[in-house]
Amino acid sequence: MGKVGETTLILDLDSLEHNYNYLRAKIKPETKFLGVVKAFAYGSDMVTIAQKLEQLGADYLAVAYVSEGVLLRKAGIKTPILVLHPLASNFDDLMAYRLEPSIYSRNILNQFLEAAKVQKQKNYPIHIKFNTGLNRLGFSENDVEFIAKETLQNGCIKIVSAFSHLAASEDKNERDFSLKQIESFKKLSNALKDSLGYAPMRHMLNTSGIINYPEAQFEMVRSGIGLYGYGNQTEVDAQLKPVATLKTIISQIHHIDANESVGYNRAFKSSRPIKSATLPIGHADGIGRQYGKGKGFVTINNHKAPILGNVCMDMIMVDVTGIDCKEGDEATVFGTEKSAEKFALGAGTISYEILTAISQRVKRVVTGA
Ligand SMILES: *Cc1c(COP(=O)(O)O)cnc(C)c1O
Repeated sequence: MGKVGETTLILDLDSLEHNYNYLRAKIKPETKFLGVVKAFAYGSDMVTIAQKLEQLGADYLAVAYVSEGVLLRKAGIKTPILVLHPLASNFDDLMAYRLEPSIYSRNILNQFLEAAKVQKQKNYPIHIKFNTGLNRLGFSENDVEFIAKETLQNGCIKIVSAFSHLAASEDKNERDFSLKQIESFKKLSNALKDSLGYAPMRHMLNTSGIINYPEAQFEMVRSGIGLYGYGNQTEVDAQLKPVATLKTIISQIHHIDANESVGYNRAFKSSRPIKSATLPIGHADGIGRQYGKGKGFVTINNHKAPILGNVCMDMIMVDVTGIDCKEGDEATVFGTEKSAEKFALGAGTISYEILTAISQRVKRVVTGA
């Protein structure tokens, strides 16, 4: 990758392949692998990432919403796609594009049965989501009989998997809670199997689950953040490679005198003469206001340049005092040298948030196979 001429998110598919192989090696060869590509593949490029995962042999893909799955199908993706959070208003699109819904409540099950009946579906693949402690989406124990009865009475759907989600898979202090969730999921999925008379596939682990609870891999695992190069723990981060690198350039350099201010609301006031650089990236590109006032920094010619004052919509100003740099030089926000996790930490957030925040206006460039 040569020098960038504008704000650019560089996506390295070789790194994606490395991460995929690393995660695959953590599970049994027969365990299926679902790649999570929701939210533009964690803020990168959903179609490009999905195509690469399909080529690498991922068994399943997952998105959050139906519209995301439709985009993948329109781009020619053939791999089964689980929609984690479908809404009844999108069921016709869901079926038209052969997307597989997560069914998480009696209400959504009834609505899906209704829609599938109208369309005269037979054995339409669905996935049953159990709530085992996250308290976000999912059925509970007293729903099992209802799910089985409705499914068996209506030949229009078929339960291909039962799944649940850990609330704190990355937190070793919550190990007991996670183990209880796993036990509860085993009970629920067994009860469902007994009531149905067949055994749907089971899956529970996200990236940190794969690392910390490999004994609970069941028939499939679901990984998102790990594929993009982040493992929620430093030892794992060290083994993974960030897929996305965010770079920009210096538009203008200013020499600021003592007692001058920089940016909106005069949020930075200089106590001494400094040098500032203005970069064409702002909160409309995903660098939220919480990164202002020195909480976030970019790297210019191997030096840290902290953000001065408030983040603007389309720009930030950074402190380049003492850094040998000129207009047109490159600045790295995060990526291979300084991870998105580290950048996020400065503003009190996590890699997931900064990655998915990078807006669609930022140019994407793909490198690697
Ligand atoms: C987003 C999501 C995942 C992926 O989690 P990572 O921590 O990114 O690996 C897995 N399962 C569900 C239900 C999710 O919503």
